[in-house]
Amino acid sequence: MTDEVRDLLFSLLEVGSPSGFEEPMIGRLMEELRPLCDEVTQTPRGNVVGVQRGTDPEAPRVALAAHMDQVGFVVFSVDPRGFIRFRKLGGAVDRSIQGHQVRLLTEEGPVIGVVGLTPGHITRPEEARQIPPVEEMYIDIGARSAEECAERGVRIGTPIVWNTGPVELGNGLVATAAADDRAGLAAIIAVARELRRRPPEATVYYIGTVEEEIGLRGAAVAAHGLDVDMAVAVDTCPAGWQPDVNMRDMVYEVGGGPCLQMGEIGGGGFRVGSQVVRRWLMDAAEANGLPYQTGFMHGGTDASAIQQTGSGVPAVAFSIPRLYSHSPVEVLSLEDLRNLAKTLTHAIRGLRRGFSTLRVQP
Ligand SMILES: [Zn+2]
Repeated sequence: MTDEVRDLLFSLLEVGSPSGFEEPMIGRLMEELRPLCDEVTQTPRGNVVGVQRGTDPEAPRVALAAHMDQVGFVVFSVDPRGFIRFRKLGGAVDRSIQGHQVRLLTEEGPVIGVVGLTPGHITRPEEARQIPPVEEMYIDIGARSAEECAERGVRIGTPIVWNTGPVELGNGLVATAAADDRAGLAAIIAVARELRRRPPEATVYYIGTVEEEIGLRGAAVAAHGLDVDMAVAVDTCPAGWQPDVNMRDMVYEVGGGPCLQMGEIGGGGFRVGSQVVRRWLMDAAEANGLPYQTGFMHGGTDASAIQQTGSGVPAVAFSIPRLYSHSPVEVLSLEDLRNLAKTLTHAIRGLRRGFSTLRVQP
């Protein structure tokens, strides 16, 4: 499935879908899942749920969730000269905003802009070492007035994304904005395609969630009313092995295999994932000679939100490691993405009735 996964990822990267403005990706994911699932629905909240019913109704029901949103920005105000003030949607790294191209997703279509900055010639040394607050940054779309911005469809509340598409680096690495979490969406669609060819006994729910980057808000309600036995949040995670990161603090390596998370650090403390679900995936990787890494990830994922749904759903985060998180040049390995999809496919094919997700086996 080599080129298939790459092509799928690249085509998903053309969709702009910042947190809270996921409509383009909701439509796109439903389109992808419809031919692969028995049923695809959208909740009023925006989450997308596709179901592939397994051949044994008594076999476990598994949810694979990936978030449809990406970190981005939103128009906050427009000044009389046509310069656009904006705020962040999610955690874009402030250092990678000025001097970059952005795409304003107006109702009339995309408008390209740049985030301006003080001319180098008059930047004082102390200024050069500082990043201004986002409130002081501005976007220039080449308009001469607020009226001209409005004529081009730019209004308060217009969503914005980085205009940085994917480029291929050496060793199967790809650099792009929104690798987080287009990679996860590509992975779950790849699994759905594989399992459609030869249906497993287990029933699989493919869930696209909204607003992950602004507090796991879609995932908190996505599994509500679904009778699932366990869930896997398929996402990206920060990796080490870059000159300015100490491997003591970041254990994962891009290209070393997908990461099976023990739990999550940050976002209000330490959250431990389901070790039963982790073990199930680990066993599948090992039985099929597929690489994986394991450790704790920095930041929350949909796994910890889904874990708290209903009476509690055993859940784990399974992630594609990526460098330069929440920047326009996030770097990931296509091989890690393929290996994650393969591990999930094997693991789901191996599920039989009687599989227990209880922490102490009966
Ligand atoms: Zn993510």
